[in-house]
Amino acid sequence: MGGEAAADGGKKPSNIFTEARRHLLEEISTFLLAHDLEVTPANLVIAHGAFSGANPGLARQFATRAHAGITITQEWLDEATANDEEEYDADGVQLLMAKLESTLVAFSKSTNVARSATAHYNDELAQHVADLEQVEETGTIISNLADLAKAMLERTRKVEQEMRRSEDEAKSLRQSLDKAKRDAEIDHLTGLPNRRAFEALLDTHYRDARLAIEPLCIAFCDIDHFKRINDTHGHDAGDRVIKTIADSLATITNDNCHVARHGGEEFVMLFRGVSLTDAHERLDALREQFASRKLVNRKTDAPFGQVTFSGGIADVFAFSNPRDALKAADEALYGAKEGGRNKILVAHA
Ligand code: GH3
Ligand code: MG
Ligand code: MG
Repeated sequence: MGGEAAADGGKKPSNIFTEARRHLLEEISTFLLAHDLEVTPANLVIAHGAFSGANPGLARQFATRAHAGITITQEWLDEATANDEEEYDADGVQLLMAKLESTLVAFSKSTNVARSATAHYNDELAQHVADLEQVEETGTIISNLADLAKAMLERTRKVEQEMRRSEDEAKSLRQSLDKAKRDAEIDHLTGLPNRRAFEALLDTHYRDARLAIEPLCIAFCDIDHFKRINDTHGHDAGDRVIKTIADSLATITNDNCHVARHGGEEFVMLFRGVSLTDAHERLDALREQFASRKLVNRKTDAPFGQVTFSGGIADVFAFSNPRDALKAADEALYGAKEGGRNKILVAHA
């Protein structure tokens, strides 16, 4: 027992978190020195990103160059990381992920402290109990034991508080993360799912409809002569027209019918469990209904004139995969434009 304490030199028991931090610092400094890079805040952030796991793409690039024995110059580093900040800002999800990660690390650290404190307490307690059985001066031992128990209580209470705080933080981060994930799938102008979300919906419905042997149709719609609206009434008015058409298309959404903004003045739709003929009919009815509306620029009271959209629709299972079906719907849309606009054409396989 005494020999072990002497060998330990009175140091705190080694902690995997301290070790991980030391390792990270060593990797960062070895990297900067090996490539003769300045110790600037920017380089530290970049190196931290690569070695902490926050920027796995960069870590891979570093590894490839290290493997090939190529030195990393400041110029290369600046170029390789030029878009990192933009991507990081653009994707709030990543930032939240990183924060969540560190909270969870703090959380597991707290539980680790709690565990080692308990283990330490148990060891001491066991020793005192053993002493108690052998020694006659029980009064001193009991008072030592009481002091130890009190100190332990205080420590566990602190750890408990820390754990509760970490838990609350993790919970609120989880909520922010869920919200950020939802926001990343919604088009802000129209409130419709965006292209990314639509692609996920398409994959899911394609798989499920194929298993259930249900029909699945996909449509591509595009506002007619939209450039003219922008040119005549301005971009903001154009945005309001996009929103109005989006609202109109969205009236047919339900669990089996999805509308998304594909980008610009283009929309995509998915009809599940509806035959091509029926889906075409429903979309064509929407087109007709919209074309009959008289839209007015509410900022200027100037009429927009007739605003229409064209579309192409395809039976997804008539094509070898959903992408080909979408392409065919887009080609049918092009046919509708060529054929005079304000119509929905069916794609032929
Ligand atoms: P077509 O009938 O052939 O579709 O003609 P078009 O004028 O609608 O088509 P074109 O592709 O030439 O123009 C589309 C225009 O849509 C060009 C672009 O400036 C505008 N646009 C794209 N996205 C937006 C947006 O979010 N808001 C606004 N206001 N305009 C947009
Ligand atoms: Mg277009
Ligand atoms: Mg257009």
